[in-house]
Amino acid sequence: MSGKINIRRDTQDTFYRYKMPRLQGKIEGKGNGIKTVLPNIVDVSRALSRPPSYATKYFGYELGAQTKNDEKIEKFIVNGAHEVPKLQELLYDFIDRFVLCGDCKNPETDLIISKDKDQKIIRQCMACGKRTDVDMRHRLSTFIVKNPPPKDKKGGQHASASATSGGANGAGEGSDGGAAGSGGDGDDFDMLASGTAGLALSEGGDDDDWDVEVDTSAEAVAERQRKLAGGASGVLATGGGNNNNDDDDDDNGSTGDANGKDPYDELGDFITANASATDREIFEKAGALGLDKKHRALVVVIMCVFEDPSTLIKDIAKRDKLLMAFGDSDKHQRAIIGGFERVIEAHMDRLLGKTPLILKALYDEEIVEEEAFAEWGKKPSKKYVDKETAKQIHKAAEPFLRWLEEADEESDDDDEE
Ligand SMILES: [Zn+2]
Repeated sequence: MSGKINIRRDTQDTFYRYKMPRLQGKIEGKGNGIKTVLPNIVDVSRALSRPPSYATKYFGYELGAQTKNDEKIEKFIVNGAHEVPKLQELLYDFIDRFVLCGDCKNPETDLIISKDKDQKIIRQCMACGKRTDVDMRHRLSTFIVKNPPPKDKKGGQHASASATSGGANGAGEGSDGGAAGSGGDGDDFDMLASGTAGLALSEGGDDDDWDVEVDTSAEAVAERQRKLAGGASGVLATGGGNNNNDDDDDDNGSTGDANGKDPYDELGDFITANASATDREIFEKAGALGLDKKHRALVVVIMCVFEDPSTLIKDIAKRDKLLMAFGDSDKHQRAIIGGFERVIEAHMDRLLGKTPLILKALYDEEIVEEEAFAEWGKKPSKKYVDKETAKQIHKAAEPFLRWLEEADEESDDDDEE
């Protein structure tokens, strides 16, 4: 499973602001030619505001292995077969030593190489302003002195850590784009965006007709949410009754608490009654109800939080952390898709046509992974919606699924040299 993880290994806080994609590794070749390709080191490094060659080199030094860095084609390789957990651990070491402020541990730092003859490397912290030394005895320090980080016009290398996940501060972003000529790495997102242009997946133009004739009075909203919330436990109940043996192992025993109220209903009621509840408040409520690891809680959360079809896509980007907070197992990912199937079902006339957009937003925000979509895409399932609706949603999702497949094939081609 990938998804985003905290940049600091010593905090488990789901809402910690600084995230990075979980490191991936792919072992290729055999015998003497065996190597570990780092398919997403560019994205990981971007989250750390470091060139991808640094972490790759760090792995090589620590593992006593040769590395290959090709920034142009974004190919980063460590020779030999290395397991991802080991690499992830080394990545955290790298972060401790070359990214986090030595004082306040904030990851928004720039590496500065002093001009005197020692050529010391300093971490300049954007948060507390302190300058802390980097261990110059490490071989990576020598590499960094020889290959200094690219400077952009503002003199900062740091990208806003939250920019990819909700855009809390729109500011920090712009600088990257300006310097995109050489160092600016062919952003995955750009590729995705241009790749889908032909699919008419773009939002925007037709936004207007989304807003017509929705009764937004408080009453109507409450009523809709009530229906959805009721539907939530309804669906959960049938799901459980079905005895779909691939699913309910961890959920059945827990429903129905002392006061006889279904905790899933209670969670739905809470979200409905607290329209401005933050991610943290919702997640804490789920925790208080014993639902914070339950994939089915996601269905309730999704149906209650994403009740406004006109802002659905934008809301997905805003709520990514909440959706990932419950867990990232296959079941959780399936439940997220299921939750959105339910949302689409509740607004078929307006949302069915938007299915590819909705799924793509889940993909772009790294909330649901490719494998989960592929699995879901195999055949319509009545796990979360009725068969007929499932079929329609699947049909509507086809452009997205096809695009996903093609994107996958392309990247497979790239991998073969
Ligand atoms: Zn600091």
